[in-house]
Amino acid sequence: MSALPPTVTARALQEKLRAHFGFRQFRPGQLEAVRCAMEGRDVLIVMPTGSGKSLCFQLPALELEGTTVVVSPLIALMKDQADALRAKGVDVAVVNSTLTAAERHRAEEDIASGRAEFVYTTPEQLANPEFRAVLKRVPIDLFVVDEAHCVSQWGHDFRPDFLALGRAIDDLGRPPVLALTATATPDVIEDVLGRLGIPNADVVHTGFYRPNLTLDVIPAAGDREKCALLSKILDNTDGPAIVYAATVKAVEAVAEYLDGEGVDVAAYHGKLPPKQRAAAQDAFMSGAVRTMVATNAFGLGIDKPDIRAVVHYHLPGTVEAFYQEFGRAGRDGGTARCVLLYDPADQKLQRFFGRGRYPDDTDLVNAYHTLERAPGGATLTELLAISPLPKARLKLCLDLLTGRGVARADGARYELAARGLDRDQVARQGQAYREREERDRAKLQTLVGYAEGRACRWHTVLKYFGEGTELATPKCGHCDRC
Ligand code: ADP
Ligand code: MG
Repeated sequence: MSALPPTVTARALQEKLRAHFGFRQFRPGQLEAVRCAMEGRDVLIVMPTGSGKSLCFQLPALELEGTTVVVSPLIALMKDQADALRAKGVDVAVVNSTLTAAERHRAEEDIASGRAEFVYTTPEQLANPEFRAVLKRVPIDLFVVDEAHCVSQWGHDFRPDFLALGRAIDDLGRPPVLALTATATPDVIEDVLGRLGIPNADVVHTGFYRPNLTLDVIPAAGDREKCALLSKILDNTDGPAIVYAATVKAVEAVAEYLDGEGVDVAAYHGKLPPKQRAAAQDAFMSGAVRTMVATNAFGLGIDKPDIRAVVHYHLPGTVEAFYQEFGRAGRDGGTARCVLLYDPADQKLQRFFGRGRYPDDTDLVNAYHTLERAPGGATLTELLAISPLPKARLKLCLDLLTGRGVARADGARYELAARGLDRDQVARQGQAYREREERDRAKLQTLVGYAEGRACRWHTVLKYFGEGTELATPKCGHCDRC
Protein backbone atom coordinates (compact mmCIF):
# COMPACT_ATOMS: atom_id res chain seq x y z
CA MET A 1 0.00 0.00 0.00
CA SER A 2 2.67 2.47 1.04
CA ALA A 3 4.41 2.11 -2.33
CA LEU A 4 1.48 3.68 -4.14
CA PRO A 5 1.55 7.40 -4.82
CA PRO A 6 -0.66 9.14 -2.25
CA THR A 7 -3.22 10.45 -4.76
CA VAL A 8 -4.03 6.96 -5.99
CA THR A 9 -4.31 5.70 -2.45
CA ALA A 10 -6.64 8.53 -1.58
CA ARG A 11 -8.90 7.80 -4.51
CA ALA A 12 -8.87 4.07 -3.83
CA LEU A 13 -9.75 4.66 -0.21
CA GLN A 14 -12.53 7.00 -1.19
CA GLU A 15 -14.02 4.21 -3.28
CA LYS A 16 -13.86 1.96 -0.24
CA LEU A 17 -15.56 4.63 1.82
CA ARG A 18 -18.43 4.69 -0.63
CA ALA A 19 -18.61 0.91 -0.92
CA HIS A 20 -18.63 0.17 2.81
CA PHE A 21 -20.40 3.19 4.27
CA GLY A 22 -22.12 4.96 1.41
CA PHE A 23 -20.39 8.27 2.24
CA ARG A 24 -19.03 10.38 -0.59
CA GLN A 25 -16.26 12.21 1.23
CA PHE A 26 -13.90 11.73 4.11
CA ARG A 27 -14.30 14.17 6.92
CA PRO A 28 -11.20 16.08 8.10
CA GLY A 29 -8.54 13.73 9.46
CA GLN A 30 -10.25 10.51 8.43
CA LEU A 31 -8.22 9.81 5.31
CA GLU A 32 -4.94 10.38 7.11
CA ALA A 33 -5.99 8.12 9.97
CA VAL A 34 -7.26 5.37 7.67
CA ARG A 35 -4.02 5.47 5.74
CA CYS A 36 -1.90 5.03 8.88
CA ALA A 37 -3.91 1.99 9.87
CA MET A 38 -3.76 0.50 6.36
CA GLU A 39 0.00 0.85 6.41
CA GLY A 40 0.34 -0.74 9.83
CA ARG A 41 1.54 2.40 11.60
CA ASP A 42 0.51 3.21 15.17
CA VAL A 43 -1.74 6.24 15.30
CA LEU A 44 -3.53 8.40 17.84
CA ILE A 45 -6.58 10.20 16.52
CA VAL A 46 -7.74 13.30 18.32
CA MET A 47 -11.05 14.57 17.01
CA PRO A 48 -14.04 16.16 18.68
CA THR A 49 -16.99 14.01 19.62
CA GLY A 50 -19.30 13.37 16.69
CA SER A 51 -16.68 14.00 14.04
CA GLY A 52 -16.54 10.38 12.90
CA LYS A 53 -13.75 8.64 14.74
CA SER A 54 -15.21 5.13 14.45
CA LEU A 55 -14.87 5.11 10.70
CA CYS A 56 -11.12 5.66 11.07
CA PHE A 57 -10.70 2.10 12.29
CA GLN A 58 -13.78 0.44 10.84
CA LEU A 59 -12.79 1.12 7.24
CA PRO A 60 -9.24 -0.28 7.54
CA ALA A 61 -10.54 -3.19 9.62
CA LEU A 62 -12.94 -4.16 6.86
CA GLU A 63 -10.12 -4.02 4.32
CA LEU A 64 -7.34 -5.71 6.30
CA GLU A 65 -7.05 -9.47 6.56
CA GLY A 66 -7.01 -10.25 10.28
CA THR A 67 -9.20 -9.70 13.29
CA THR A 68 -9.64 -6.22 14.75
CA VAL A 69 -9.81 -5.88 18.52
CA VAL A 70 -11.72 -2.86 19.79
CA VAL A 71 -11.42 -1.93 23.45
CA SER A 72 -14.16 0.31 24.72
CA PRO A 73 -14.98 1.49 28.23
CA LEU A 74 -18.73 1.34 27.89
CA ILE A 75 -20.75 -1.77 27.23
CA ALA A 76 -23.62 0.29 25.79
CA LEU A 77 -21.32 1.94 23.22
CA MET A 78 -19.96 -1.43 22.29
CA LYS A 79 -23.42 -2.78 21.63
CA ASP A 80 -24.42 0.15 19.40
CA GLN A 81 -21.33 -0.22 17.24
CA ALA A 82 -21.60 -3.99 17.05
CA ASP A 83 -25.26 -3.75 15.99
CA ALA A 84 -24.42 -1.20 13.31
CA LEU A 85 -21.67 -3.42 11.87
CA ARG A 86 -23.84 -6.52 12.01
CA ALA A 87 -26.49 -4.65 10.05
CA LYS A 88 -23.88 -4.41 7.28
CA GLY A 89 -23.43 -8.18 7.42
CA VAL A 90 -20.12 -8.02 9.27
CA ASP A 91 -19.31 -10.75 11.80
CA VAL A 92 -18.76 -9.15 15.23
CA ALA A 93 -17.97 -10.82 18.54
CA VAL A 94 -18.69 -8.90 21.74
CA VAL A 95 -17.00 -10.14 24.89
CA ASN A 96 -17.80 -8.49 28.20
CA SER A 97 -18.92 -9.30 31.71
CA THR A 98 -22.63 -9.44 30.80
CA LEU A 99 -22.30 -12.68 28.77
CA THR A 100 -23.65 -16.01 30.00
CA ALA A 101 -21.25 -18.95 29.91
CA ALA A 102 -22.91 -20.24 26.74
CA GLU A 103 -22.75 -16.86 25.00
CA ARG A 104 -19.15 -16.50 25.97
CA HIS A 105 -18.32 -19.91 24.61
CA ARG A 106 -19.97 -19.06 21.29
CA ALA A 107 -18.16 -15.72 21.07
CA GLU A 108 -14.80 -17.33 21.78
CA GLU A 109 -15.42 -19.94 19.10
CA ASP A 110 -16.29 -17.20 16.68
CA ILE A 111 -13.00 -15.49 17.49
CA ALA A 112 -10.76 -18.57 17.50
CA SER A 113 -12.10 -19.73 14.13
CA GLY A 114 -11.24 -16.36 12.62
CA ARG A 115 -14.86 -15.73 11.65
CA ALA A 116 -15.18 -12.59 13.75
CA GLU A 117 -13.82 -9.57 11.89
CA PHE A 118 -14.26 -7.40 14.97
CA VAL A 119 -13.93 -8.26 18.62
CA TYR A 120 -15.43 -5.61 20.89
CA THR A 121 -14.28 -6.00 24.45
CA THR A 122 -13.25 -4.27 27.68
CA PRO A 123 -9.90 -3.74 29.42
CA GLU A 124 -11.10 -6.05 32.20
CA GLN A 125 -11.49 -8.92 29.73
CA LEU A 126 -8.08 -8.27 28.20
CA ALA A 127 -6.52 -8.51 31.64
CA ASN A 128 -7.52 -12.16 31.61
CA PRO A 129 -4.74 -14.38 30.18
CA GLU A 130 -7.25 -17.03 29.11
CA PHE A 131 -9.10 -14.55 26.95
CA ARG A 132 -5.84 -13.30 25.48
CA ALA A 133 -4.95 -16.90 24.65
CA VAL A 134 -8.10 -17.05 22.50
CA LEU A 135 -7.11 -13.85 20.70
CA LYS A 136 -3.60 -15.16 20.13
CA ARG A 137 -4.98 -17.92 17.93
CA VAL A 138 -5.76 -15.43 15.17
CA PRO A 139 -3.74 -12.71 13.47
CA ILE A 140 -4.73 -9.29 14.83
CA ASP A 141 -4.55 -6.63 12.14
CA LEU A 142 -5.43 -3.67 14.36
CA PHE A 143 -5.74 -3.06 18.08
CA VAL A 144 -8.16 -0.19 18.69
CA VAL A 145 -8.46 1.75 21.94
CA ASP A 146 -11.62 3.86 21.86
CA GLU A 147 -12.01 6.72 24.38
CA ALA A 148 -8.26 6.45 24.88
CA HIS A 149 -8.12 9.32 27.37
CA CYS A 150 -9.33 6.69 29.87
CA VAL A 151 -5.75 5.39 29.75
CA SER A 152 -4.37 8.63 31.06
CA GLN A 153 -4.05 9.70 34.63
CA TRP A 154 -4.94 13.16 33.42
CA GLY A 155 -7.92 12.20 31.26
CA HIS A 156 -11.22 13.31 32.74
CA ASP A 157 -12.54 9.81 33.09
CA PHE A 158 -9.43 7.92 33.97
CA ARG A 159 -10.07 4.19 34.44
CA PRO A 160 -7.45 2.18 36.32
CA ASP A 161 -8.41 -0.90 34.30
CA PHE A 162 -7.01 0.76 31.22
CA LEU A 163 -3.54 0.88 32.75
CA ALA A 164 -2.87 -2.75 31.93
CA LEU A 165 -3.66 -2.30 28.23
CA GLY A 166 -0.05 -1.61 27.27
CA ARG A 167 0.94 -4.96 28.71
CA ALA A 168 -1.97 -6.73 27.02
CA ILE A 169 -0.83 -5.28 23.68
CA ASP A 170 2.72 -6.56 24.35
CA ASP A 171 1.34 -9.97 25.14
CA LEU A 172 -0.62 -10.03 21.87
CA GLY A 173 2.62 -9.47 19.98
CA ARG A 174 2.25 -5.71 19.42
CA PRO A 175 -0.25 -5.45 16.59
CA PRO A 176 -0.59 -1.94 15.14
CA VAL A 177 -2.43 0.28 17.62
CA LEU A 178 -5.08 2.84 16.72
CA ALA A 179 -6.20 4.98 19.65
CA LEU A 180 -9.07 7.48 19.59
CA THR A 181 -10.00 10.30 21.90
CA ALA A 182 -11.81 13.61 21.99
CA THR A 183 -9.51 14.98 24.69
CA ALA A 184 -6.83 17.14 23.26
CA THR A 185 -4.62 18.48 26.03
CA PRO A 186 -0.93 17.83 25.32
CA ASP A 187 -0.34 16.14 28.69
CA VAL A 188 -3.13 13.62 28.05
CA ILE A 189 -1.84 12.88 24.56
CA GLU A 190 1.67 12.27 25.82
CA ASP A 191 0.47 10.10 28.67
CA VAL A 192 -1.73 7.97 26.38
CA LEU A 193 1.12 7.35 23.94
CA GLY A 194 3.45 6.37 26.77
CA ARG A 195 1.04 4.05 28.49
CA LEU A 196 0.03 2.26 25.31
CA GLY A 197 3.69 1.85 24.42
CA ILE A 198 3.43 3.74 21.11
CA PRO A 199 5.70 6.76 21.66
CA ASN A 200 6.35 7.15 17.93
CA ALA A 201 2.75 6.96 16.79
CA ASP A 202 1.45 9.46 14.24
CA VAL A 203 -0.96 11.90 15.84
CA VAL A 204 -3.90 12.95 13.69
CA HIS A 205 -5.41 16.02 15.30
CA THR A 206 -8.20 17.88 13.56
CA GLY A 207 -8.62 20.80 15.89
CA PHE A 208 -11.49 21.67 18.14
CA TYR A 209 -12.99 24.84 16.79
CA ARG A 210 -16.68 24.53 15.88
CA PRO A 211 -17.74 27.84 14.35
CA ASN A 212 -21.38 26.75 14.16
CA LEU A 213 -21.58 26.70 17.96
CA THR A 214 -22.15 30.01 19.73
CA LEU A 215 -20.76 30.15 23.25
CA ASP A 216 -22.51 32.29 25.87
CA VAL A 217 -22.12 32.76 29.58
CA ILE A 218 -25.06 34.27 31.43
CA PRO A 219 -24.52 35.25 35.07
CA ALA A 220 -27.37 33.97 37.24
CA ALA A 221 -27.76 33.81 40.98
CA GLY A 222 -29.79 30.94 42.37
CA ASP A 223 -32.41 28.59 41.01
CA ARG A 224 -35.19 31.07 40.46
CA GLU A 225 -33.14 33.26 38.16
CA LYS A 226 -31.62 30.29 36.39
CA CYS A 227 -34.99 28.69 35.76
CA ALA A 228 -36.41 31.91 34.35
CA LEU A 229 -33.42 32.27 32.02
CA LEU A 230 -33.67 28.62 31.03
CA SER A 231 -37.32 28.98 30.05
CA LYS A 232 -36.47 31.93 27.89
CA ILE A 233 -33.58 30.15 26.20
CA LEU A 234 -35.70 27.10 25.46
CA ASP A 235 -38.51 29.32 24.14
CA ASN A 236 -36.06 30.79 21.68
CA THR A 237 -34.62 27.44 20.64
CA ASP A 238 -36.03 25.95 17.50
CA GLY A 239 -35.23 22.26 17.96
CA PRO A 240 -33.99 19.72 20.50
CA ALA A 241 -32.06 20.88 23.56
CA ILE A 242 -30.10 19.31 26.39
CA VAL A 243 -29.92 20.90 29.84
CA TYR A 244 -27.07 19.59 31.98
CA ALA A 245 -27.26 19.88 35.77
CA ALA A 246 -24.69 18.63 38.25
CA THR A 247 -26.92 16.68 40.63
CA VAL A 248 -29.79 14.23 40.45
CA LYS A 249 -31.83 16.48 42.68
CA ALA A 250 -31.34 19.48 40.41
CA VAL A 251 -32.20 17.42 37.33
CA GLU A 252 -35.49 16.42 38.90
CA ALA A 253 -36.30 19.92 40.12
CA VAL A 254 -35.48 21.58 36.79
CA ALA A 255 -37.43 18.97 34.82
CA GLU A 256 -40.42 19.50 37.09
CA TYR A 257 -40.19 23.26 36.73
CA LEU A 258 -40.02 23.06 32.95
CA ASP A 259 -42.90 20.61 32.88
CA GLY A 260 -44.92 23.13 34.87
CA GLU A 261 -44.05 25.75 32.27
CA GLY A 262 -45.51 23.54 29.58
CA VAL A 263 -42.18 22.46 28.07
CA ASP A 264 -42.22 18.82 26.98
CA VAL A 265 -39.28 17.38 28.83
CA ALA A 266 -37.58 14.13 29.81
CA ALA A 267 -35.18 13.61 32.72
CA TYR A 268 -32.14 11.34 32.77
CA HIS A 269 -29.72 10.47 35.54
CA GLY A 270 -27.83 7.51 36.96
CA LYS A 271 -30.27 6.90 39.79
CA LEU A 272 -33.20 6.10 37.49
CA PRO A 273 -34.00 2.43 36.93
CA PRO A 274 -32.49 1.23 33.62
CA LYS A 275 -35.91 0.90 31.95
CA GLN A 276 -36.88 4.45 32.77
CA ARG A 277 -33.51 5.73 31.65
CA ALA A 278 -33.84 3.92 28.34
CA ALA A 279 -37.37 5.28 27.88
CA ALA A 280 -36.18 8.84 28.52
CA GLN A 281 -33.33 8.43 26.07
CA ASP A 282 -35.60 6.93 23.39
CA ALA A 283 -38.12 9.72 23.81
CA PHE A 284 -35.43 12.33 23.24
CA MET A 285 -33.60 10.52 20.45
CA SER A 286 -36.81 9.85 18.50
CA GLY A 287 -37.93 13.46 18.83
CA ALA A 288 -41.03 12.60 20.87
CA VAL A 289 -39.64 14.87 23.58
CA ARG A 290 -37.77 18.01 22.63
CA THR A 291 -35.87 18.81 25.81
CA MET A 292 -33.69 16.53 27.90
CA VAL A 293 -32.65 17.52 31.41
CA ALA A 294 -29.79 15.29 32.53
CA THR A 295 -26.70 14.76 34.60
CA ASN A 296 -23.47 13.98 32.80
CA ALA A 297 -24.59 10.32 32.83
CA PHE A 298 -26.38 11.24 29.60
CA GLY A 299 -24.41 11.63 26.47
CA LEU A 300 -21.43 9.39 25.82
CA GLY A 301 -22.14 7.92 22.41
CA ILE A 302 -25.29 10.02 21.90
CA ASP A 303 -25.38 10.75 18.21
CA LYS A 304 -28.27 13.12 17.58
CA PRO A 305 -27.36 15.51 14.81
CA ASP A 306 -29.95 18.26 15.27
CA ILE A 307 -29.48 19.46 18.85
CA ARG A 308 -29.91 23.24 18.72
CA ALA A 309 -28.97 24.15 22.30
CA VAL A 310 -26.98 22.77 25.20
CA VAL A 311 -27.46 24.65 28.45
CA HIS A 312 -25.27 24.10 31.48
CA TYR A 313 -27.36 24.78 34.53
CA HIS A 314 -24.30 24.35 36.75
CA LEU A 315 -20.61 24.90 36.19
CA PRO A 316 -19.10 21.59 34.96
CA GLY A 317 -15.94 20.24 36.60
CA THR A 318 -13.47 20.54 33.72
CA VAL A 319 -13.09 22.17 30.33
CA GLU A 320 -12.89 18.69 28.78
CA ALA A 321 -16.25 17.70 30.22
CA PHE A 322 -17.72 21.07 29.27
CA TYR A 323 -16.46 20.81 25.70
CA GLN A 324 -17.65 17.25 25.33
CA GLU A 325 -21.10 18.18 26.60
CA PHE A 326 -21.71 21.37 24.64
CA GLY A 327 -20.09 19.63 21.66
CA ARG A 328 -23.18 17.44 21.34
CA ALA A 329 -24.94 20.45 19.81
CA GLY A 330 -25.00 21.13 16.10
CA ARG A 331 -23.47 17.92 14.81
CA ASP A 332 -25.33 18.44 11.55
CA GLY A 333 -23.27 21.59 11.02
CA GLY A 334 -26.25 23.88 11.64
CA THR A 335 -25.96 26.67 14.17
CA ALA A 336 -26.56 25.93 17.83
CA ARG A 337 -26.31 27.81 21.07
CA CYS A 338 -24.25 26.64 24.06
CA VAL A 339 -25.02 28.52 27.25
CA LEU A 340 -23.46 28.36 30.67
CA LEU A 341 -25.69 29.74 33.43
CA TYR A 342 -23.01 30.92 35.77
CA ASP A 343 -23.39 31.29 39.49
CA PRO A 344 -20.00 31.60 41.24
CA ALA A 345 -21.52 29.72 44.19
CA ASP A 346 -21.64 26.58 42.01
CA GLN A 347 -17.90 26.19 42.38
CA LYS A 348 -18.64 24.82 45.83
CA LEU A 349 -20.64 22.02 44.29
CA GLN A 350 -17.76 20.91 42.09
CA ARG A 351 -15.30 21.15 44.98
CA PHE A 352 -17.59 18.92 46.96
CA PHE A 353 -17.59 16.31 44.15
CA GLY A 354 -13.84 16.61 43.95
CA ARG A 355 -13.39 15.63 47.56
CA GLY A 356 -15.07 12.24 47.31
CA ARG A 357 -13.59 11.25 43.97
CA TYR A 358 -10.35 9.52 44.89
CA PRO A 359 -9.39 7.12 47.65
CA ASP A 360 -7.71 8.80 50.59
CA ASP A 361 -5.01 7.46 52.90
CA THR A 362 -7.51 5.70 55.17
CA ASP A 363 -9.16 3.97 52.19
CA LEU A 364 -5.82 2.66 50.99
CA VAL A 365 -4.82 1.40 54.40
CA ASN A 366 -8.21 -0.30 54.70
CA ALA A 367 -7.77 -2.01 51.35
CA TYR A 368 -4.29 -3.11 52.35
CA HIS A 369 -5.58 -4.66 55.56
CA THR A 370 -8.33 -6.41 53.66
CA LEU A 371 -5.72 -8.02 51.39
CA GLU A 372 -3.73 -9.04 54.45
CA ARG A 373 -6.76 -10.94 55.64
CA ALA A 374 -6.90 -12.94 52.40
CA PRO A 375 -3.44 -14.49 52.33
CA GLY A 376 -4.08 -16.88 49.43
CA GLY A 377 -5.62 -14.15 47.26
CA ALA A 378 -9.30 -13.44 46.66
CA THR A 379 -11.69 -12.01 44.10
CA LEU A 380 -13.14 -8.54 44.36
CA THR A 381 -16.46 -9.98 45.54
CA GLU A 382 -14.75 -12.01 48.26
CA LEU A 383 -12.71 -9.03 49.39
CA LEU A 384 -15.79 -6.86 49.39
CA ALA A 385 -17.37 -9.15 51.96
CA ILE A 386 -14.58 -8.45 54.44
CA SER A 387 -13.90 -4.80 53.57
CA PRO A 388 -15.48 -1.67 55.03
CA LEU A 389 -15.15 0.07 51.63
CA PRO A 390 -17.84 0.35 48.98
CA LYS A 391 -17.18 -1.62 45.81
CA ALA A 392 -16.02 1.11 43.44
CA ARG A 393 -13.72 2.55 46.08
CA LEU A 394 -12.24 -0.83 46.96
CA LYS A 395 -11.63 -1.57 43.28
CA LEU A 396 -9.90 1.78 42.83
CA CYS A 397 -7.62 1.05 45.80
CA LEU A 398 -6.84 -2.48 44.61
CA ASP A 399 -5.96 -1.22 41.15
CA LEU A 400 -3.78 1.48 42.59
CA LEU A 401 -1.97 -0.98 44.87
CA THR A 402 -1.58 -3.39 41.95
CA GLY A 403 -0.22 -0.66 39.72
CA ARG A 404 2.31 0.20 42.43
CA GLY A 405 3.40 -3.42 42.82
CA VAL A 406 2.07 -3.64 46.38
CA ALA A 407 -0.53 -6.16 45.21
CA ARG A 408 -0.74 -8.61 42.33
CA ALA A 409 -3.74 -9.31 40.11
CA ASP A 410 -4.00 -12.71 38.49
CA GLY A 411 -7.12 -12.73 36.37
CA ALA A 412 -9.90 -11.83 38.76
CA ARG A 413 -7.90 -12.55 41.94
CA TYR A 414 -5.99 -10.03 43.99
CA GLU A 415 -3.15 -10.91 46.31
CA LEU A 416 -0.70 -8.96 48.43
CA ALA A 417 2.78 -8.74 46.93
CA ALA A 418 4.48 -6.57 49.57
CA ARG A 419 3.73 -7.60 53.13
CA GLY A 420 4.45 -5.82 56.37
CA LEU A 421 4.19 -2.22 55.10
CA ASP A 422 3.33 0.34 57.73
CA ARG A 423 0.55 2.89 57.48
CA ASP A 424 2.75 5.62 56.03
CA GLN A 425 4.23 3.36 53.42
CA VAL A 426 0.76 2.33 52.26
CA ALA A 427 -0.58 5.87 52.34
CA ARG A 428 2.32 7.06 50.22
CA GLN A 429 1.08 4.87 47.35
CA GLY A 430 -1.77 7.34 46.95
CA GLN A 431 0.50 10.22 45.95
CA ALA A 432 -0.67 9.98 42.33
CA TYR A 433 -4.22 10.65 43.47
CA ARG A 434 -3.15 13.67 45.50
CA GLU A 435 -1.59 15.02 42.31
CA ARG A 436 -4.79 14.32 40.44
CA GLU A 437 -6.76 16.23 43.02
CA GLU A 438 -4.42 19.14 42.56
CA ARG A 439 -4.96 19.01 38.79
CA ASP A 440 -8.71 18.76 39.19
CA ARG A 441 -8.67 21.94 41.23
CA ALA A 442 -6.65 23.66 38.54
CA LYS A 443 -9.09 22.44 35.86
CA LEU A 444 -12.04 23.83 37.75
CA GLN A 445 -10.17 27.10 38.09
CA THR A 446 -9.70 27.19 34.31
CA LEU A 447 -13.42 26.90 33.83
CA VAL A 448 -14.05 29.68 36.35
CA GLY A 449 -11.61 31.72 34.28
CA TYR A 450 -13.68 30.92 31.20
CA ALA A 451 -16.86 32.10 32.91
CA GLU A 452 -15.44 35.20 34.54
CA GLY A 453 -12.83 36.24 31.99
CA ARG A 454 -13.24 39.03 29.46
CA ALA A 455 -11.58 37.15 26.61
CA CYS A 456 -13.27 35.55 23.61
CA ARG A 457 -14.85 32.30 24.85
CA TRP A 458 -13.68 30.19 21.94
CA HIS A 459 -10.14 31.52 22.33
CA THR A 460 -10.18 30.51 25.98
CA VAL A 461 -11.36 26.97 25.20
CA LEU A 462 -8.94 26.44 22.32
CA LYS A 463 -6.03 27.85 24.27
CA TYR A 464 -6.73 25.32 26.98
CA PHE A 465 -6.50 22.54 24.40
CA GLY A 466 -3.18 23.93 23.25
CA GLU A 467 -4.61 25.46 20.08
CA GLY A 468 -4.32 29.16 20.71
CA THR A 469 -3.51 29.91 17.10
CA GLU A 470 -6.32 28.01 15.47
CA LEU A 471 -8.44 31.10 15.05
CA ALA A 472 -7.11 33.48 12.44
CA THR A 473 -8.50 36.54 14.22
CA PRO A 474 -8.45 37.52 17.88
CA LYS A 475 -12.26 37.47 17.87
CA CYS A 476 -14.25 34.39 16.93
CA GLY A 477 -17.50 36.23 16.30
CA HIS A 478 -19.34 33.25 17.76
CA CYS A 479 -19.49 34.08 21.44
CA ASP A 480 -21.05 36.66 23.73
CA ARG A 481 -17.71 38.42 24.19
CA CYS A 482 -17.07 39.06 20.51
P1 ADP B 1 -17.20 10.02 17.27
O1 ADP B 1 -16.78 8.66 17.71
O2 ADP B 1 -16.06 10.84 16.76
O3 ADP B 1 -17.97 10.75 18.32
P2 ADP B 1 -18.81 8.63 15.34
O4 ADP B 1 -17.76 7.74 14.84
O5 ADP B 1 -19.81 8.03 16.27
O6 ADP B 1 -18.18 9.92 16.04
O7 ADP B 1 -19.53 9.29 14.08
C1 ADP B 1 -20.53 10.25 14.20
C2 ADP B 1 -21.45 10.21 12.99
O8 ADP B 1 -20.80 10.69 11.82
C3 ADP B 1 -21.94 8.82 12.64
O9 ADP B 1 -23.33 8.86 12.41
C4 ADP B 1 -21.21 8.48 11.37
O10 ADP B 1 -21.93 7.57 10.56
C5 ADP B 1 -21.06 9.83 10.72
N1 ADP B 1 -19.92 9.89 9.77
C6 ADP B 1 -18.65 9.50 10.01
N2 ADP B 1 -17.85 9.71 8.94
C7 ADP B 1 -18.62 10.27 7.99
C8 ADP B 1 -18.38 10.74 6.64
N3 ADP B 1 -17.16 10.67 6.08
N4 ADP B 1 -19.42 11.27 5.97
C9 ADP B 1 -20.64 11.35 6.54
N5 ADP B 1 -20.95 10.92 7.80
C10 ADP B 1 -19.95 10.39 8.52
MG1 MG C 1 -16.79 7.30 19.31
